[in-house]
Amino acid sequence: MTLIGKEISHYRILEGLGRGGMGVVYKAQDTRLGRYVAIKFLSSGDESSEALERFRNEARTASALNHPGICTVHDIGEHQGRPFIVMELLEGETLKAHLSAKPLKAEELLSLAVELAEALSVAHEQGIIHRDIKPANIFVTRQGHAKILDFGLALLVHHDLSGEDLSNLPTLIEKKDADSNAAAGTISYMSPEQIRGEKLDGRSDLFSLGLVLYEMGTGIHPFRADDAATVCDRILRTTPQPAAQINPELGYELSQIIALTLEKDREVRYPSAQELLEDLRQLEITGARSRIPIGRPSIAVLPFQDLSPDKDQRHFCDGLADELIGSLSQIEGLQVASRTSSFEFRDQHLDVRDIGQRLNVGTVLEGSVRKSGNRLRITSRLVDNASGYQLWAEQYDTDLQDIFEIQEDIAHRITAALQVELKEREQRVLERVAT
Ligand code: ATP
Ligand code: MG
Repeated sequence: MTLIGKEISHYRILEGLGRGGMGVVYKAQDTRLGRYVAIKFLSSGDESSEALERFRNEARTASALNHPGICTVHDIGEHQGRPFIVMELLEGETLKAHLSAKPLKAEELLSLAVELAEALSVAHEQGIIHRDIKPANIFVTRQGHAKILDFGLALLVHHDLSGEDLSNLPTLIEKKDADSNAAAGTISYMSPEQIRGEKLDGRSDLFSLGLVLYEMGTGIHPFRADDAATVCDRILRTTPQPAAQINPELGYELSQIIALTLEKDREVRYPSAQELLEDLRQLEITGARSRIPIGRPSIAVLPFQDLSPDKDQRHFCDGLADELIGSLSQIEGLQVASRTSSFEFRDQHLDVRDIGQRLNVGTVLEGSVRKSGNRLRITSRLVDNASGYQLWAEQYDTDLQDIFEIQEDIAHRITAALQVELKEREQRVLERVAT
């Protein structure tokens, strides 16, 4: 039964705008104020008074959000038991539609990302978590600005997902699968903690936003799969390929910001939308990030690989790594994995990032030594575990007697790449190696 042409409360329903998993959206005119609005009738399966009350509360909270990056809620009501929500009428298209053509240019991505992070930070500061950030809930206006839709509404329809109770998740998947194919869509933007049914905070929205940004930049959803169970499994376990490896135009910095929002462990993720916003803004202004990485940087130094013709330099290789571990460990601003744990990975031919993940460090230093006679070739590279990027690499061709300078140089370059501030005493420790 269509509502078009009807007058409900003081809203004249004019035309349909779209349909989603939660209900139908119409364009309408507010007959009192004369303005045009969007009105959404929710087809919540749960029309108990308790659900309606929850809806009222949520809508009230959402309507308190007044920010250009958030679609304004004007009013709420009920029509024949169906709750409806009256909001600002937007012109443009959803990000989902916007993305269907092709990935966005880095510049457009960044400007939308800044607006989205800002909107989230305002909401989070007021204690409101969105819980359902996805391209269908983001609008790109005709002027090219981002607006987040459906703030707080996820609690109404997916109230089971707000936390606490994991047992409801399959129910939701079944229920939504039954009446629409929206389930896969919604689930694929959930954070790991949301899937696990844990209590959520703003960092969950950051993960979902990270997925949206990844998709904006690459055109690919990293956890996409045909069935919900596989999607969940990938969200919980698969580390996405760095976005810039798929689309190099994005650049290393943006790719790394996205990787940091997609950290599975929320303790490692950006601590708040505000911090994400700062990095995005900084990148917008200077093309560089303000601080990498967040928190105390950490490193594992792997034993150097022996590439000498006679393979007789194992002691030398281990000694080099040992010395580096020893001097880096004395730097307060840097966390260094123990020798025992790092050396366990010798000859295992694992990907550096796998090793980094197992050792729970942000970066891994690996290298090789080739010695013939008195000549030495040492290579060394520092890899960022989250993005897979090489933060620094060098090749040294020298005599054996210069080995201490090389050690010092490597240690210095690591602290520089990780932006570790050295105290005077620590500076001396690094130099002492050279004497
Ligand atoms: P879900 O129900 O899971 O949120 P969805 O986001 O795809 O799914 P709706 O939120 O119901 O669905 O929105 C349906 C469509 O209505 C949107 O895709 C959009 O095109 C349109 N729409 C929603 N809100 C507005 C608005 N304020 N102004 C203009 N169009 C809107
Ligand atoms: Mg929506």
